[in-house]
Amino acid sequence: MRRRRFTVLLGLLVVLGLAAAPGSAAGFGTIDSGGQSREHERLTRAALSCAGDARSDPDCFEPTTMDYLAGHGHEFGAVGSPDRDELSDPAAHCDGADYVAGPYPRTRMQATASLVDCLNHMRLRFGEGVDKAQGLLGRDGEVLAAEVGLDPECRSDDEREERAKCATLEAFGRALHGVQDFYAHSNWADQADPARPIGDENPPGLDLPAPSPLLDLRGAAAPDPPAELSTGCYVARDEVPGVGACQLRVTHAGLNKDRGQIDPVTGAATDPTTPRGMVGTNFAKAVTGAVTETRREWRDFRSELVARYGTERGERMACALTHDDPVDDCAGANPVVAAVVLAGLVAVAVGAILWLRRPVRRSERGRAGSAGAAGHGR
Ligand SMILES: [Zn+2]
Repeated sequence: MRRRRFTVLLGLLVVLGLAAAPGSAAGFGTIDSGGQSREHERLTRAALSCAGDARSDPDCFEPTTMDYLAGHGHEFGAVGSPDRDELSDPAAHCDGADYVAGPYPRTRMQATASLVDCLNHMRLRFGEGVDKAQGLLGRDGEVLAAEVGLDPECRSDDEREERAKCATLEAFGRALHGVQDFYAHSNWADQADPARPIGDENPPGLDLPAPSPLLDLRGAAAPDPPAELSTGCYVARDEVPGVGACQLRVTHAGLNKDRGQIDPVTGAATDPTTPRGMVGTNFAKAVTGAVTETRREWRDFRSELVARYGTERGERMACALTHDDPVDDCAGANPVVAAVVLAGLVAVAVGAILWLRRPVRRSERGRAGSAGAAGHGR
């Protein structure tokens, strides 16, 4: 009877221990490159995809989730959304912050004001994402299956789309698009063509690293750009030299490093096809900057989730946003909590064993005493 109780207790402890251990992650498939040359998609994958069959962690996105974040096939994905419905808004692409020292149609202050427009736009999207993440969890902090399912795929261009994970990734993806464009559309990380004079057709390059202090999307501070920072003026007739509103100004056409081949696994950037991208290693510098900045923005987004919602809920939200099966993979306690719970269970088990053994000794001693012998217990 006692032994059975002991066995039942041990079984219970084992079950409790397993339940408290962190969930095991699913295996990963190969990354879908699909033979596309869409640069936003490929560099987003290079920045944030979970690598090969490595164990998933909160700093990488599993395949189905990444398909929505980065886009795939004919799908724009969250990162591509500004190219679908914000094409004419320069703030969504960090265009229009053009400036060159000397005689120029615009002042440094006007250029910086356009940069602030872009920064505010990205901060708005980033903040929308943090707001929407609240819907991922229920009142007790549990992952809500209906809010994190990705089948069918998110349809964020459909107003009936209400899943919190879709809405959160959509907003965060739009913010990523902007920071990625900053590296492709500005002279932050590039160099001028040394064979030509500096001017609106060949603005100076700043050759600066990523991440950029200008792209702090958690903060609210006004940016303090280098005096020579420029992006490009953009109009429908995007040409060098500029025409229409872009006359005598640095143009998107002249400054962008938008096109080339990007390896979606390594982020290696080759075969640039735009004039500025073909100068030196400008295309690779822009891609490397965008990849580094993308990783920084995800880390900042996670940090903001924790700051807003607390460590446990914030980290569970990050888990739900990065994992394909968050109901199973993000439900368990985090490893630290699990370790504490396991240690507690071991202490309980030891206590229970001692407690169960004590009465056995006493009763055996009693029986031995009545037999008139001082023999040892078995
Ligand atoms: Zn863009």
